[in-house]
Amino acid sequence: AASYVGFDSITRQIEHKLLKRGFQFNVMVVGQTGLGKSTLVNTLFASHLVDSKGRTEPDIAPRATTEIHPKSQVIVENGVRLKLNIIDTPGYGDLVNNDGCWEPIVKHIKDQHSAYLRKELTAMRERFIPDTRIHCCVFFINPTGHTLKPIDITVLKKLSEIVNVVPVIAKADSLTLEEREAFKQRIMAELQYNQIRLYPFDGEDLDAEELDVNERVRSMLPFAVVGSERNVIVDGKSVRGRKNRWGTIVVEDETHCEFVYLRNFLTRTHLQDLIETTSQIHYETFRSKQLLALKE
Ligand code: GDP
Ligand code: MG
Repeated sequence: AASYVGFDSITRQIEHKLLKRGFQFNVMVVGQTGLGKSTLVNTLFASHLVDSKGRTEPDIAPRATTEIHPKSQVIVENGVRLKLNIIDTPGYGDLVNNDGCWEPIVKHIKDQHSAYLRKELTAMRERFIPDTRIHCCVFFINPTGHTLKPIDITVLKKLSEIVNVVPVIAKADSLTLEEREAFKQRIMAELQYNQIRLYPFDGEDLDAEELDVNERVRSMLPFAVVGSERNVIVDGKSVRGRKNRWGTIVVEDETHCEFVYLRNFLTRTHLQDLIETTSQIHYETFRSKQLLALKE
């Protein structure tokens, strides 16, 4: 069925008990004000995830995002329960002085790591630890077609040290396909120049095939996305889209933008790896630093 999300394929690798209880997948959206973060979150929740067999837990977010705000939806497929949490954040970078504007975001991510560590240290009684750690941070880039802003480089650097970061070109409908391609290449070159290590990571233990998968993911980044909270009529059908001066952009049409790629990447192809990388790389780094500090 078109509404099939596919995360139940994870069953092979995750413990049966854990599966019955369900698991959580936490995605955070970060970027300047006005780049369409809240719109994209709503688009994700309104897209086929809602129509799938699963129950939903509607949770109305205020329009102007003034604080870190989670929005949840439970999806059930073949007896596997996934709670998708998307954490919307206030935009940053709109003040004259942007010193430390990323701090509330970084703090939120670290706070989840510390909460998990505290629970883990007392886990004798509590065998199941609710996971609020951020598994993926979707970073919105202004579709200027030129370069990243210095503030973006700074924030990306901070974030990439503590969380899986996946960049997207926001409001991609404002660029032509050629402009998007050129912009993507420029962004990736800039990230490399600034030594920002984004997800996926090429660990030493990866074989040739895994390295190849990583390379393929990288060749798609950043996803050029378009969000919309309105429907448009195309061929007599009502679909999520936007009308602009060139015509109509259908959000879920893969020839129009890469919204579907992002959604599949998050909920289907990389969900498990994002969870594992969070636990094995980012959380582990946090944990060993904390435990080392305790000993001193
Ligand atoms: P946020 O501050 O990042 O949460 O941005 P919002 O989601 O509130 O969106 C800001 C404005 O941009 C709204 O008027 C949206 O309708 C518009 N917008 C959101 N996504 C897109 C998009 O993909 N393309 C275009 N052209 N406009 C968008
Ligand atoms: Mg917002």
